[in-house]
Amino acid sequence: MPQGLVTVAYIGATILFILALGGLSHPETARRGNLYGMTGMGIALLATLFGVVTDNYVMLLAALAIGATIGLVLAKRVQMTQMPELVAILHSLVGMAAVFVGFASFSDPNVHFIGVEKTIHDIEIYLGVLIGAVTFAGSVIAFGKLSGKIGGNPMLLPGRHWLNLGLLLMTIWICGVFVEQSAAGDGLFPLLIMTLIALAYGVHMVMAIGGADMPVVVSMLNSYSGWAASATGFMLGNDLLIVTGALVGSSGAILSFIMCRAMNRKFIAVIAGGFGTTSGSGSGGGAEVDQGDVMPIDAAETAELLKNAKEVMIIPGYGMAVAHAQHIVHEITRKLRDSGVNVRFGIHPVAGRMPGHMNVLLAEAKLPYDIVFEMDEINDDFPKVDVTVVIGANDVVNPSALTDPDSPIAGMPVLECWKSGTTIVLKRSMATGYAGVQNPLFFLENTRMLFGDARESLDRVLADL
Ligand code: NDP
Repeated sequence: MPQGLVTVAYIGATILFILALGGLSHPETARRGNLYGMTGMGIALLATLFGVVTDNYVMLLAALAIGATIGLVLAKRVQMTQMPELVAILHSLVGMAAVFVGFASFSDPNVHFIGVEKTIHDIEIYLGVLIGAVTFAGSVIAFGKLSGKIGGNPMLLPGRHWLNLGLLLMTIWICGVFVEQSAAGDGLFPLLIMTLIALAYGVHMVMAIGGADMPVVVSMLNSYSGWAASATGFMLGNDLLIVTGALVGSSGAILSFIMCRAMNRKFIAVIAGGFGTTSGSGSGGGAEVDQGDVMPIDAAETAELLKNAKEVMIIPGYGMAVAHAQHIVHEITRKLRDSGVNVRFGIHPVAGRMPGHMNVLLAEAKLPYDIVFEMDEINDDFPKVDVTVVIGANDVVNPSALTDPDSPIAGMPVLECWKSGTTIVLKRSMATGYAGVQNPLFFLENTRMLFGDARESLDRVLADL
């Protein structure tokens, strides 16, 4: 394939990636956005296969076949609740690829740069391996935390900020040593040492993240994986990889910033790993603190309350994903709306286990978008709401985020459903949510608990409606 055609294909793919990002910014256009992205990636793959690669076809095709098979099997098998872990582990692969490409590029006997060009290439390698190793280690720990294989509580080492600062200064110093030694035909040792430091930093950074900061870290690792891909593009001299990586890196950074604002967290504080977090979870962490009795309710009474309400607000959370209850939620919504009840949805920015988790589920159940609202849009409306139904949400409706400064979720804005007439909470037990803090909402006078799996409970409510 002529070089000109490869360039045109790369530009086409870049435009499609930008259109994909644009499409993904709204549920209605997200499907189209995905199609643009897939087409762009298809074009990029074909152009690289037929225009850039010149030999080693057998090895490349074998790798593509293995990768595609694993990807297909994983995507088919993964449950919606495991999606965040899958995303985390995929990020780790991008990081690992950047590390491998860095070492391969460093040891490539066919690369002969001299003078300034050599220095620039060495710095590209150094940065690529650095970002890649942090992304890899951080994503593996995030995977462990999201899948419950590693506890969610932050691991806060004494003097951790000094440790981070020390590691940063060391990587800067080692960079100088690496460039100097590489110019003399050596440099593998400093590169290896820096890789170990970067891996340790990635582990330490994510281990220090507790409850409320985890969503920001997930989107930040997404951003890092983009920068790692971009660095790989520099090492390989591949423009498309540079641009695509930068698109992922910057959109991930913007998302992290949005999440930080939603969580009332400082961006730098999160990057530094648990900055400003205290080691204890304070009184908020006390699941065992006696807060009084809760008042249970059954499905028939719930249906009665809903039927007699004028304004109903539904707050979905992670438990709705676990119970696969989104379709039955749609059925109930339709039934209530048909009988004149105004049903709306309030979505917290960090509900579930990945950004946009609830929106994806509700879109999958084909719920009309115009009754789904962001937290900021509807939080003032609760005093006018007759009945709020909390479906498998916990941390995002926890009033202690506003009242208990020692809580791990202190300062996080929450959906203030306790201001509505009655709040009905659907969950299986009195277990805590992701942040591990008990929720005083459950013990309030105007709260009723509908215990059981959310889908089974809602099935009964629908039957009674
Ligand atoms: P939570 O994790 O706080 O609570 C979920 C609740 O759902 C649990 O209390 C659980 O109680 C209940 N539940 C689980 N399964 C079922 C079921 N089958 N039927 C009924 N209830 C069920 O979820 P939220 O959505 O309220 O909050 C999200 C949390 O996750 C926040 O702390 C956020 O910081 C964190 N997080 C968010 C990420 C994101 O990007 N959105 C990423 C990483 C973390 P029980 O066991 O008693 O049923």
